Amino acid sequence: MSLLLLSLLLQSYASNNVILFIGDGMGPAVVTASRIQYDGLAWDKFPNTAIVSTKSYNNHVTDSAAAATAMATGSKTDNGVLSLSPKDSKEHRSSLKTLADIAKSKNYSVGLVTTTEVTHATPAAFYSHREDREDDSGIAIDLFNSKLDLMFGGSTKSVEKALSKNPAKFSILRDKKDLPSLPGKPYLGIFEMGHIPYYETSEFNKATQPRLYEMTASAIDVLSKNKAGFFLMVEGGRIDHALHKNNIPQALIETSEFSLAVTTAMEKLKQLKKLDKTLIIITADHDTAGLNINGYLNIKKPLITDRKIATSEKDSIPVLTSTAPVHAHSAAHTAVDVSLYARGPCGQSFSGLIENTDIFNKIQSCLNK
Ligand SMILES: [Zn+2]
Repeated sequence: MSLLLLSLLLQSYASNNVILFIGDGMGPAVVTASRIQYDGLAWDKFPNTAIVSTKSYNNHVTDSAAAATAMATGSKTDNGVLSLSPKDSKEHRSSLKTLADIAKSKNYSVGLVTTTEVTHATPAAFYSHREDREDDSGIAIDLFNSKLDLMFGGSTKSVEKALSKNPAKFSILRDKKDLPSLPGKPYLGIFEMGHIPYYETSEFNKATQPRLYEMTASAIDVLSKNKAGFFLMVEGGRIDHALHKNNIPQALIETSEFSLAVTTAMEKLKQLKKLDKTLIIITADHDTAGLNINGYLNIKKPLITDRKIATSEKDSIPVLTSTAPVHAHSAAHTAVDVSLYARGPCGQSFSGLIENTDIFNKIQSCLNK
């Protein structure tokens, strides 16, 4: 057999990698507004799409904890709960197996990347089992007991406390210069005390703090060295925060940063010859703020021309509320379905109207192929 044939054969037997990109709060109108503002998004040409119902076990409007639990474990739970079954189910608050556990049981490498604190609800649902998403000290303990190969985001007091008690668990990174490209002791990258600041504000330190795409590239470099395969979750965590403040320009900037992370991941995977063996999914955990875009808009003009962005993290004045064509209707999450875009192996399994728990089921079956 020729070497080429042999390598093709081996490649076809290699397992599938999975990258799940979650735009927190990135409802359909946020996607449309960002696509107009930035002249396209990374996933516009993905061949497979679905519509996702995000309701939780006990509410039509989910929070991030219940939504992330649904995607991480395949089970709906009560709002505010991390990867435990619902209170009134017969399993009553029992621990749910996560995609991270399943990937680990197949000897995959597992990484989580976010722009929020590492203990925030979305990443936490992949490694923590807690009744209350605000139980930061409990979640930090779960992080230090986890089998994650890599976790990047922001720190909290509880994370620092857990670190002082267990300094040997992780290689700690605090500057973007330290972002690794090779596997080693599990990495904990904590680049801010709190959430990583909004991009393009005075708080974001370009010299030391990584952008989402830089963390994503580093994570793929590290995780892809494992021949068994890898599972990576990347969260654009601060789209939601900007929407809660009705700071629409910042929400669009955060969505553009999220899109850049997707582009970077695809370029990186192509270089590594792993693009065709990697299922890439882009979705949101829920819609936030119920944006609408209206008023007949000149196709040649950007959506938002007034770039009066809140220039500081503390600057929470709702901008462009009356003059712009993009309006926010609330500061809360909504029940609106979100979009899902997929490509790569098993991508075609995503179609029609699905539940957020189906995302788990489809990823699990793809990992088993
Ligand atoms: Zn959320």
